Amino acid sequence: MFDYSGNNKNVQAGLPPVATEPRIGKIRRICRKSTDAKLKASDHARAKGAERSDALTSDRADIRPPIAPPIPAGSPVRPLAGRRQAVLEREKMTDYFEIDFLGVETAKSGDAITLRYSIGGITRIHIVDGGYLGTSDQIIEHLKTYYGAPTFIDAVVLTHSDRDHANGLRKILETYDVGCLYMNRPWLYAEELLARFETYTSASALYRKLREVYAAVVELEDIALRRGIPISDAFQGAAIGSFMVMAPSRTRYLDLIVASQKTPEAAKAEGSARFSLLRNLVEAAKNFIAAAWGEERFPADGTSSENEMSLVQYLNFGGEPILLTGDAGREALTETIAYAPMVGLNLPGLKMVQVPHHGGRHNVSSEILDALLGPKFDSMPANTLFSAICSSAKEDKDHPRKVVKRAFLHRGAHFSETEGKPVHWSRGISRPGWTSIPQADYPTEMEE
Ligand SMILES: [Zn+2]
Repeated sequence: MFDYSGNNKNVQAGLPPVATEPRIGKIRRICRKSTDAKLKASDHARAKGAERSDALTSDRADIRPPIAPPIPAGSPVRPLAGRRQAVLEREKMTDYFEIDFLGVETAKSGDAITLRYSIGGITRIHIVDGGYLGTSDQIIEHLKTYYGAPTFIDAVVLTHSDRDHANGLRKILETYDVGCLYMNRPWLYAEELLARFETYTSASALYRKLREVYAAVVELEDIALRRGIPISDAFQGAAIGSFMVMAPSRTRYLDLIVASQKTPEAAKAEGSARFSLLRNLVEAAKNFIAAAWGEERFPADGTSSENEMSLVQYLNFGGEPILLTGDAGREALTETIAYAPMVGLNLPGLKMVQVPHHGGRHNVSSEILDALLGPKFDSMPANTLFSAICSSAKEDKDHPRKVVKRAFLHRGAHFSETEGKPVHWSRGISRPGWTSIPQADYPTEMEE
């Protein structure tokens, strides 16, 4: 509970308030099913030129939401260079939500996302993926500067086993008290899956093999067990704080473990440096073709089984649906779309969506984006309908894909990319000293 009388010493110190409830209660609650998702999603104003509530982009400073001041923080922002970093300032609204996509910078892209929200007087901090080993210090620094230097993180979430998401979480688990680590561990299902593997005759051998393959997840498990951090699986229907897990379903997750192990190593070794190099060379040789507004060409083949295992998380914040996708592919997104009505999510109508897999073009299709985001506009809409945020490294020239960026813009997105810098999006809380991110340029060509 918050104490608005000023007795909360964090408030007195000018820092954001933190929940003061006992920790045990908090842990229990985040493992409980959320009822937030039952809230009805807001109706989606698809009409061209419809008034938007998050139109505070710097290139459209004339647009303001149709309500009285204070103006809620809306469009994604990032820090102004050379300015002293300002302390958070909570606005009058009781509930708030803020999310930061940190700039994960290596030759390849990665995800490191921090978020804090307060709903009904309960404030929670989540960390979703940690980027690479080197990213963890950046996360810790960010929490110190903007989240009131917490010592307790309610939920640490690993969306899937890839190292660009998992490795940076090691130091997070070592540094903070953590309410619950949410991640799925393939080896736990060795016994259940044994019959589906012709080459394995014992569950223990399969168990060992799966731990070997998903070593990055084992590393996190080791730390959590040593530090007494509870670990929870996270399948469709599970709650993570006020978020609802949309994908993967347990059944599809088990299928993916089997599918992945049956794929030749070389074809699925996305994490291996040699494979990446080879792939980059192949991709670099790719040609672009000029394309008119609305044209989209996606490759037939999908993404890796590991990416398809990604957790997709949904939060309805005050009628505004927020969707975090990790590296989810077409199967995971299709599953999400099918599940949406069960949790009161009326698609299309998202207010903020993470662009899956750093803007990879094997993860989406025109049909999936139609269902998720709505149909294409006939031309560039005057006002954007929602924010699409993409974690993509500056050095990683292949992400986001031009066709993906086009496809989001076709459907009314305000599109922003990390490219080495954090992107912040919020409701009900402002961050002084950060500046609006202009709308992305529309790519006039796409991959052949
Ligand atoms: Zn990734």
